[in-house]
Amino acid sequence: MPRGVSYQVLARKYRPQSFADVAGQEAVVGTLMRALDAGRVAHAFLFTGSRGVGKTTLARILAKCLVCAQGVSSKPCGTCTLCLGVAQGTLTDVVEIDGASNNSVEQVRDLQEVARFQPQLARCKLFIIDEVHMLSSSAFNALLKILEEPPPHVKFIFATTEPHKIPVTILSRCQRYDFKRLPQQVIVGRLKQVLALEQVAISDGGLEVIARAAEGGMRDALSLADQVLSFAGTAGATAEQVTEALGIIDRRSVVRAVEAVIRGDAKDALAVVDAAWARGHDQRQLLAAIAEELRHLCVANATGSVRGFADLTDEELSRIDARARQLDGKDLTRLLGLALDGIDPTARAEDPRLSVELVLLRMCGRPPLGDALAISEAILRLEALAKGKAVPPLSEAEVARAAAQPRVVAAPPAPALTPSTAPPVPPPAPPPAPLRSDPTVPPTLFDGEDPPVIAEVPSATAPPAPHAEGEPEDEPEDMPEDNAAPVAAAAPATAARPAAPEAPAEEDEEGPDPAAGLPLEGVDARFLAFVDQVARSHRPMAMHLDHARLLRTHDGAVEVFFPRELHARALSAAVDAPVIKDALDAAFGKGARLVIVPPPAESSQVHVSVAEARERALAEAQRALEQHAKSHPVVEKAVALFGGEVRQVKRR
Ligand SMILES: [Zn+2]
Repeated sequence: MPRGVSYQVLARKYRPQSFADVAGQEAVVGTLMRALDAGRVAHAFLFTGSRGVGKTTLARILAKCLVCAQGVSSKPCGTCTLCLGVAQGTLTDVVEIDGASNNSVEQVRDLQEVARFQPQLARCKLFIIDEVHMLSSSAFNALLKILEEPPPHVKFIFATTEPHKIPVTILSRCQRYDFKRLPQQVIVGRLKQVLALEQVAISDGGLEVIARAAEGGMRDALSLADQVLSFAGTAGATAEQVTEALGIIDRRSVVRAVEAVIRGDAKDALAVVDAAWARGHDQRQLLAAIAEELRHLCVANATGSVRGFADLTDEELSRIDARARQLDGKDLTRLLGLALDGIDPTARAEDPRLSVELVLLRMCGRPPLGDALAISEAILRLEALAKGKAVPPLSEAEVARAAAQPRVVAAPPAPALTPSTAPPVPPPAPPPAPLRSDPTVPPTLFDGEDPPVIAEVPSATAPPAPHAEGEPEDEPEDMPEDNAAPVAAAAPATAARPAAPEAPAEEDEEGPDPAAGLPLEGVDARFLAFVDQVARSHRPMAMHLDHARLLRTHDGAVEVFFPRELHARALSAAVDAPVIKDALDAAFGKGARLVIVPPPAESSQVHVSVAEARERALAEAQRALEQHAKSHPVVEKAVALFGGEVRQVKRR
């Protein structure tokens, strides 16, 4: 057929005229038909869904159902003057309003005016308001007035792509229908019907390209088909020709780029960018398409199949599922993360091509997962050591094997790929060497997305950060001579404070004591026993006592002072509490009293507080941990690998 000046675009020419013609949206159509046939017709309908999924089309069909001279039903005759009037847009009782351009309150008042009059020909007056979310808030208020007491002859059909922008007062007065994006197969099926009626053809592969590009919208799909027929002819354009005609990114280029980054082939990855650039393709879309392909692979790898998680053809589903089985999930999620991180910067970049190239180079140059596994292994062992568990060190052979381990992702690509576009087949990977000698070690510490946790590795030129020294501020001095009842010398004591289960939850925010089990030097053993017993029954009180410094014991008085007034005030009211009394009796002997004294002027500090001792012990343990970490062979290897230094060692 000649496609000349009088040509009517497919989307308009083949707009469905009855419910039976509508492709997809079975749920919406079914509910509407049942409501119409049962005579349950609302005053206001709300159709929601993304663009081109059939909202306006169904609104017009519904209008026919409501005005048809044959009566209200789900099957309007389509031939009476009223049905034809709706189809041609000439029936004055059906008013179509574009909310985007008629959004002022005056225009809604006009509508109020019009709504007051009886319909001229039909049994009701019908207002179809498209993009209703664009109305101003005063216009919504005017609309609400009509909806609150709708004249019996007035009905509304609202359509919107953004229902969340519609006031709840309006929403609650509408019968709502949510339209879905159309599956690719539905779009392909409908396109085939239309093309057959037009006596033209596009190849099946070409139709799939169109359906994918339409992203679930039938109107877009028909417009794209128009475009293809104009540019690539009517004799069955191939997928390549359709891709070319629509100026969209070739699926196989995307797969090629993904395969290239998986095997770290920067040359091939950049060649894809170059080709896309030469064709004038949007670079952000290219990266988004690469991310989407990686996402499908991730899902297939994690769940066994991407079926049900992506709208793809059977051929695509099989290809992705098969390929995902050959790949490593951790490596895939890491690649997906890198791709996603690059999309926004690419959209903003002055030179988007450079931005995409940088992202792909980063993906190609990621450190092999084998090394990452070895490092995470080392971290697990260090943690075990820090907790005092006996862990045999990695043998030199194990370290060497970890370093020599090949990338576990270097599996051959799926055979489903067309040979002409398939990347060269790398040699098959040997089975990965077993790394774990300890079966009790949790299997996944390192999730593959982040650099190793153990060290923040600055560039080699960055100045080294000073290590926390934890320098003791006040060493215990000799006992003052006026001490009538000499206390025991400040002997090393061990904090063994059990968690108090009855402690109030809001006070217990510091979690388990990180210093538990560490020697607390400089704290009087009896005083520590006293604080520990208080902690067992009253944690908040013990938190204040932690800051107490024992001055002396004298005639049954246990004299303490607090460097900070805050703690002294908090405890002064509680010195006679049974909790304190009992603990004093147990630690210092029957009848001992707690006496809070002002800090001595001459700063004759006999003992450190529990809190100070704990801080010191932690600093000491941290120093030991760092020393151990830095000298560990695998960490030394990590430092060499990343070209930095160990700046901080963290407990997890
Ligand atoms: Zn009719």
